Amino acid sequence: MVKADLGICTMATIAIVGAGFSGTLLALHLLRRCPASASIVLIESNNQFGLGTAYATGNANHLLNVAAGRMSAFHDRPDDFLEWLHGQQKAAPALRDCGAGTYAPRGAYGAYIRDLLNREIGQDAGQRRLRLVRGRVLALEEEAQGVTLRLDRGRQLAAELVVVATGHFPPEAPADIPATLTDSGLYQPDPWNPAAWADLDPEAPVLIIGTGLTMVDSVISLLDQGHRGPIHALSRRGLLPARHADPGLAAPPRPGHFPTRLVALTRRLRRHGRAAQSAGLPWQPIVDSIRPFTQDLWLALPDADRARFLRHLRPWWDIHRHRMAPAVAARIETCRHSGQLTIHAGRIGEIQPGNSEARVHFTRRFSRLPVTLDVARIVNCSGPGCDFDRVTDPLMRYLLDHGLARPDPLRLGLDVTVNGAIKNGQGEISGRLFAVGPLTKGMFWEIIAVPDIRRQCERMATSIALLV
Ligand SMILES: Cc1cc2nc3c(=O)[nH]c(=O)nc-3n(C[C@H](O)[C@H](O)[C@H](O)COP(=O)(O)OP(=O)(O)OC[C@H]3O[C@@H](n4cnc5c(N)ncnc54)[C@H](O)[C@@H]3O)c2cc1C
Repeated sequence: MVKADLGICTMATIAIVGAGFSGTLLALHLLRRCPASASIVLIESNNQFGLGTAYATGNANHLLNVAAGRMSAFHDRPDDFLEWLHGQQKAAPALRDCGAGTYAPRGAYGAYIRDLLNREIGQDAGQRRLRLVRGRVLALEEEAQGVTLRLDRGRQLAAELVVVATGHFPPEAPADIPATLTDSGLYQPDPWNPAAWADLDPEAPVLIIGTGLTMVDSVISLLDQGHRGPIHALSRRGLLPARHADPGLAAPPRPGHFPTRLVALTRRLRRHGRAAQSAGLPWQPIVDSIRPFTQDLWLALPDADRARFLRHLRPWWDIHRHRMAPAVAARIETCRHSGQLTIHAGRIGEIQPGNSEARVHFTRRFSRLPVTLDVARIVNCSGPGCDFDRVTDPLMRYLLDHGLARPDPLRLGLDVTVNGAIKNGQGEISGRLFAVGPLTKGMFWEIIAVPDIRRQCERMATSIALLV
């Protein structure tokens, strides 16, 4: 049922909030699995449906960090993305060389997802089972018959079930950042904002907070816009993502068993990785061998081991698991060797904004030496925020403040069941509110990449179809 200015519809309605990869794919699977009497409303606050944060980039040098052969949106049609790429070669000759082991531009992946959505809309014509609504959901009110979604511009919409697919929280600002800095334009909180590196003197020194894949994207953007000035990247440990193995290298034998205690599991993986290296084989397939089982392992690990993993091993896991495409890694390496890019390990102290530059004080890790940098721009690439006390997104604030949702025990996302049903402030399981994608990281840990999310969407669509 859809109320007010959004029209009248008598079908059972499933509303999906957020049309990035997770929300869009879930909509496609729901259409296949739900009875004809059910309709899907996909709500997106941005202009573009199907892209989300990851695939909205227009920079052709922002590459996927998973090989094209593993990026199909459907796990039972593994070549779907590759076939789509090959079908694009006339329109986009640059995609000609994309094979299963290559790393396609992320923008092309966004176009693929949008194409899937457009095809579905074409097939749906006349049935009106799928509706796209552009707007921001600000609040969800659970009522006896369903849920009322409150949108911007005073609009509202009623649904039987709602799936929240709003993705990661934005990066958190460094502690004690002065308001004068945020207001000055010297600091950019959102690395995905096209204005993040705009209007910058190409010789000026800049600082990137974070040294993960978002930093890597930022460096690529700077190089592509002809930046010649020093680029500093700073994180607590100064760890840089590893690079993917070159395609075609022989794979080492994979571990046959994965222990369900952290210490034993870490030892097993290290042993196999070292054995591969001593045999002149790449270690990367050993890390990848765990991927089909990461969710099982996460669920099997005792709580104390999960907490220990997050405290001590997470940064190491991240750089070995989330790797750079070889072509990207080569550019980053060249930039480091030339001295233009410096990776620092340390902790930011004070940031003092000036007229055209900010003065950043940080303390080096290990030596504790104080360092001062004068930079013309600071961009926050520190990764998704997880501090629920500082989340400002209106919908998330509403859900938390009204007790409709609560953080998971590890505070990685929302507390949900294995089926994605959201638990309220008292731990009760909602029969109407669900979450999908990175928001469910506390339950599954590895639920941020396409191969994991597509599995989750298929499973969730099957279980939701039983409810309508
Ligand atoms: C830069 C980057 C690169 C990545 N590269 C890869 C890769 O190469 N391979 C891979 O497998 N994985 C990759 N990933 C991981 C993965 O694909 C993404 O995490 C995944 O796309 C998550 O999609 P999502 O839809 O859950 O979230 P998002 O992409 O963040 O989409 C959420 C959507 O919800 C909308 N929204 C938010 N709040 C509201 C609201 N209140 N009302 C309405 N709409 C709202 C947002 O506008 C957004 O479009 C990458 C991730 C990032 C960030």
